[in-house]
Amino acid sequence: MKIEAVDFFYLSMPEVTTAADGSQDALLVRVAAGGHVGWGECEASPLVSIAAFVCPMSHGGCRPVGASVLGERLDSAADIERISSRIAYDSMDLLQAAHTWSGVEIALWDLLGKARNVPAWQLLGYSKAYKKLPYASQLFGDTPDDTARLGREAVNKGFRAVKFGWGPFGRGSAKSDADHLVAAREGVGQDGTLLIDAGQIWGEDVAAAKLRLPALEKAAATWLEEPFHGSAYEAYAALADHCTSVRLAGGEAAHNFFMARHLIDYGRIGYVQIDCGRIGGLGPAKRVADYAQKRNVTFVNHTFTSHLALSASLQPLIGLPDDRVCEYPVALSSLAWELSTNHILPDANGEIALPDAAGLGIGVNTVALKKYLVPTEIIVNGQRLYKTPLLD
Ligand SMILES: [Mg+2]
Repeated sequence: MKIEAVDFFYLSMPEVTTAADGSQDALLVRVAAGGHVGWGECEASPLVSIAAFVCPMSHGGCRPVGASVLGERLDSAADIERISSRIAYDSMDLLQAAHTWSGVEIALWDLLGKARNVPAWQLLGYSKAYKKLPYASQLFGDTPDDTARLGREAVNKGFRAVKFGWGPFGRGSAKSDADHLVAAREGVGQDGTLLIDAGQIWGEDVAAAKLRLPALEKAAATWLEEPFHGSAYEAYAALADHCTSVRLAGGEAAHNFFMARHLIDYGRIGYVQIDCGRIGGLGPAKRVADYAQKRNVTFVNHTFTSHLALSASLQPLIGLPDDRVCEYPVALSSLAWELSTNHILPDANGEIALPDAAGLGIGVNTVALKKYLVPTEIIVNGQRLYKTPLLD
């Protein structure tokens, strides 16, 4: 097969706010090859990511992503890896390239899986898929009472694990954070798994993060996620020295394999969380999963958008029998929910499985998405480099 077309669709809610809700807009990618179609999603600014695919070349090390993809052969997993390597080299100075390529790469696995009639995880080298324990992933409430209520609601919906992140956490005093942690534990109950996401709030301030450790350990939080900037490895390692029961988690900011590996080796995290829509797709995410296994670090998916992205994020995780928990966003925008025709829902036991279907196993609801489409054109020097294609 030859990659004949790569189409980008910029989708957005009518209003986008400063809330840390990554499902407010989306960049959907459609690829076509050999009579098959594959879908993927980038986790990045849609407009900037489209531009990285079509922009004029700046020099030999700063070429548009499209130059490495269109017209290329696609017959095997090795072809996807070959294109990844070419982009890493030919677009080394185009920092958005990894984000753009992530959605395209995911769509290529979806397409290849459909062409072979196998799920994407089999193409990644797994022979069996294991059920995962989804954690309800949501933002902290504005007040401790709100946080407790959100925890109870998640448990009432059948979730055995709950993550709270961002919102007011880390923005006020250590006492205010401790109040939220007590409320969070109260909300999820003594048996629930409690996970906390600081959303990089302390930059590289180890002392500020350390102040919160007693309350985190008292609340029996399993992990503290992203206390620092994604590349502040020394800060991660310094904080790890002071952790007794709570482990550090991070990795969602990684936009290549090496960043994730450094966080494992130098940041001494216990959980590595990979977003396939940022790291360059399923290939590098699986490479991180393999590396994490060797280093006794638990691999976790990261995702906060549609169930297309959720399915993609689960593919590198699903074949690992011992890495049980997975991120499961529970407060999606209507755009992210309506993006797919089918959804991945917890069973009676509170566990999830991937759809039993080829590729990513998720259909795209092109009819419902039309109302979210942001018509976009990129014109340079009078030449139209991009125009929103027909969504059908
Ligand atoms: Mg996070």
